[in-house]
Amino acid sequence: MTLGIRRKMLLILVTVLVIAVGVSGWLTMRKQERDLYDAIELRGQEVIKHAANALALYAVSYDYHGIQLLLDELIQSPDLVHAHVTSAKGNLMATAGPISPAQGRHPSFERPIRFDNRQVGTLTIQLDDADIVRRVTESRNELLLRELLLVLLVAIGEFVALSYVIARPIAIISRTLEKNADTELRIEHPIPFRSTDELGRLADHFNRMRKRLNQTQRQLQTRMEAADAQLVQTNQTLILQSEKLKKANQRLIELSRTDALTGLYNRRHFEDIMTRELGDQRNDGVPCSLLIIDIDRFKQINDTHGHAMGDAVLKHFSRQIREGVRQQDIACRIGGEEFAVACRNTSHQEALRLAERLRESAEQCPLIDGNTQVFYTVSIGATTVTTRPTDLDTAFKHADQALYASKETGRNRVSHHLDQPQPAHLA
Ligand code: GH3
Ligand code: MG
Ligand code: MG
Repeated sequence: MTLGIRRKMLLILVTVLVIAVGVSGWLTMRKQERDLYDAIELRGQEVIKHAANALALYAVSYDYHGIQLLLDELIQSPDLVHAHVTSAKGNLMATAGPISPAQGRHPSFERPIRFDNRQVGTLTIQLDDADIVRRVTESRNELLLRELLLVLLVAIGEFVALSYVIARPIAIISRTLEKNADTELRIEHPIPFRSTDELGRLADHFNRMRKRLNQTQRQLQTRMEAADAQLVQTNQTLILQSEKLKKANQRLIELSRTDALTGLYNRRHFEDIMTRELGDQRNDGVPCSLLIIDIDRFKQINDTHGHAMGDAVLKHFSRQIREGVRQQDIACRIGGEEFAVACRNTSHQEALRLAERLRESAEQCPLIDGNTQVFYTVSIGATTVTTRPTDLDTAFKHADQALYASKETGRNRVSHHLDQPQPAHLA
């Protein structure tokens, strides 16, 4: 079981006060006891002194009757139980009241009876101390009661004062710390308590510490927010730059794949695509055709109309190719006035049809530049591949052979490698 500070204080106070009351009670009783003996002694001495003086004259004259009368009168006193007088020689001269054997309760006193400085007898009296004991006991009890009340009052007062001075501030401090334990990053609650003692200084230190910490926390928060904003901005800039870079890279890739004059793919990119296409075993059995197109007598065009016009013809024919091929076809300029088209999923016959269309479009659509019309034709060599993997060089070689055949047979023609007479060792 844990004891609160108030209970502990109460326990200490009660323990101290019980000890104090015990010690003080014991001392009081000791004093009362001494007072009791003093009071009895005083009373006895007083009574016996007066009686002895009164008896002196009777004793010297051996007036037994007078002595008896005096003793009878003496024991009329309520606290006197017995008195007797003996002569100087020790003979009993008179006695009054019974002798009590209980010496403790009936203390006796003895005094010589003197006349002219001569002892003429001895007076002995026995007192009843009951009344004195009763009075002394009463006064002692009253004193103890008063002391007990006083101690009780002091205890209550001290408890209240200590509670106010110590327990209350500690409870306030404890409650505040408890409330602050649940708050995050900040110390929300100050200790609502002022005093010049140690607890007050403790609260004061805590409150100042809280203020400084909260200030620092606010500064940190502000800096963090600023850093966050900066980071967001930097991030956005980076994202923008990265997007620009991505676009620039994309553009570079496009440029690296594209022929600058015609905008068609260049030979390198074409070869990459074809190598993948012909090397992929998953496509085995699916026909793929390759067309190689060469503008006929292009040198003449250059010579007749100039190099710029030659360039215009190249661009013009590139447009014809772009418009003439299908979605799955890939066209490129492989150099000079030569072009190639990769026709995926295209059979021998389909390749011939496409090639024928392209040849026709070149023949029938001359380049018109102002008043000048430039007629041109193209020769096309085709080949079709069905087995995978196949190397590109062979395909190119076959298509070239077919192109050569087109040129040889008069130009402005389409030839397919498979339609050519095979060399004797392959036949
Ligand atoms: P053939 O019918 O046998 O193909 O004859 P040809 O004149 O077309 O072939 P040849 O190989 O003799 O000449 C090709 C010419 O193409 C030579 C070259 O000056 C020209 N040429 C190559 N590249 C370009 C180019 O980018 N622009 C222009 N204007 N001419 C080019
Ligand atoms: Mg050529
Ligand atoms: Mg040519």
